[in-house]
Amino acid sequence: MIKQGLPGYMRTRVAETGAILLCLYVQLFWGDCLCGSTVVKQQAECEVGGVPAGEALIVFNGTIWTGDPEEPYADALAGLFDAHVHLLEGGQLLGQLDLTDVHSKHDFVSAIAAACEAADDGSWVLGGRWDESNWGGELPAASWIEPACRGKKVYLDRLDGHMAFVSTAAGSLAGIHKGTADPEGGRIWRDSQGAFTGLLADAAMRLVNQHVPRADLAAKHRALQTAAQHLLTQGVTMAHDMGPFPPDEDRAWMNLEQVYLPAAAREELPVRVLAHVPLSSCNDASTRGLATVDIGVLSQQIREASAACLQVSVHAIGDAANDLVLQAYEEALTAGQSELGLTVIANPHHILTDKVTVLERIGKDRAGPGRTYAFKSLLEAGADLAFGSDWPVAPASPLLGVYAAIHRRRPDEPFGSGFHLGESLTAEEALLASTREAAKASGLLDSLGTLTPGKWADMVVLSHSPVMMQSDAAIPEVLQTYLAGQCVHGC
Ligand SMILES: [Zn+2]
Repeated sequence: MIKQGLPGYMRTRVAETGAILLCLYVQLFWGDCLCGSTVVKQQAECEVGGVPAGEALIVFNGTIWTGDPEEPYADALAGLFDAHVHLLEGGQLLGQLDLTDVHSKHDFVSAIAAACEAADDGSWVLGGRWDESNWGGELPAASWIEPACRGKKVYLDRLDGHMAFVSTAAGSLAGIHKGTADPEGGRIWRDSQGAFTGLLADAAMRLVNQHVPRADLAAKHRALQTAAQHLLTQGVTMAHDMGPFPPDEDRAWMNLEQVYLPAAAREELPVRVLAHVPLSSCNDASTRGLATVDIGVLSQQIREASAACLQVSVHAIGDAANDLVLQAYEEALTAGQSELGLTVIANPHHILTDKVTVLERIGKDRAGPGRTYAFKSLLEAGADLAFGSDWPVAPASPLLGVYAAIHRRRPDEPFGSGFHLGESLTAEEALLASTREAAKASGLLDSLGTLTPGKWADMVVLSHSPVMMQSDAAIPEVLQTYLAGQCVHGC
């Protein structure tokens, strides 16, 4: 069939691709408390497919990079992967109060006051993504949102998810008073008289969070659809879902069985999803973090899961945690295996926020060149590198991630001012991490990840070539997204 009416410089002809087949895999996912990069082992010898050999034939009339070394330039970009998202949480947040773009105390208060006025009595005002550094660093207090929110229950996460701002009514509901002790691994903010000010950190967040009504099944289905549609607008055709945030094994299995699998069976999964199921939960970290699994147990789990043809990924942050994960994989090597076959999945968006604080948090040695977000060093060492966004912690935009990996700064910051520029990737290297390498990490390189005859025609049409980001051109706009040759966004 011929796809007509594509905008701009390109025309794409897509041969019959067969029905859209949406796939879902279970991945085991350990040790989220070690957070950060995810190291995935692909079971090349196991059957991990699900997408049959495609019959897509793509013919081009333009110049766009494809990621296929045999034919590197064509006129559409392979569908983008987001190899690290929290899908349902992202979808839920899209329907809640989003304070990402609030840059003053006045706007922070006004936005919450408006949400409180619009909220029904008894309902919660939820959402967040606020960041006090946007207005000079003064942490918010519940008194700011009185009287607009008097009697209203408000629970708003900070951008990093490690702090919550709650209203006086929400604090009272949770029974927080002057005498309430800080729970282990958490902190309750108090004024000079010892009264609760409305801020909770880490384990203390649960005091109020446990009273927030959990999304029911219908709400989760809506969140999945909302999240998927949002990803399609960003050019994402396949998402690696990292499960609930914060990690929760029971909820992860429930989401898999009651949300993802039924949606796939009804052909109501608008993007390809690779579902991870976390097996352990996150603990608070001290200077080197807390290992929550014994290395012997971890390597045994890797060995057993591999034998069962399950793909294994381990979430880890910091040098020590990544060393431990690599050691566990090495110990899990089966006889005759000569190499580990691992892919590192990193989240380049986090450079844009972490570069401000990482030096003071972990020191200039550990945050120095070659130690932090060391993408070039990883490639030079021969590592396979794929990218995710960590949405909703960061925007679900693979192209922003590509920009961050090239320039290591925000687009509005001066050219050449990026963080450890020696670790900058070229546009092609960064695009590969969001396409071909992420497909490899999914075990689906035979079907996805490059625009190659025979693969599924997952692709995006952009306002201009993404390779132009190398010379600091703007991040391209996603005009259209195709999944298996079908237009699913911008049609
Ligand atoms: Zn995450």
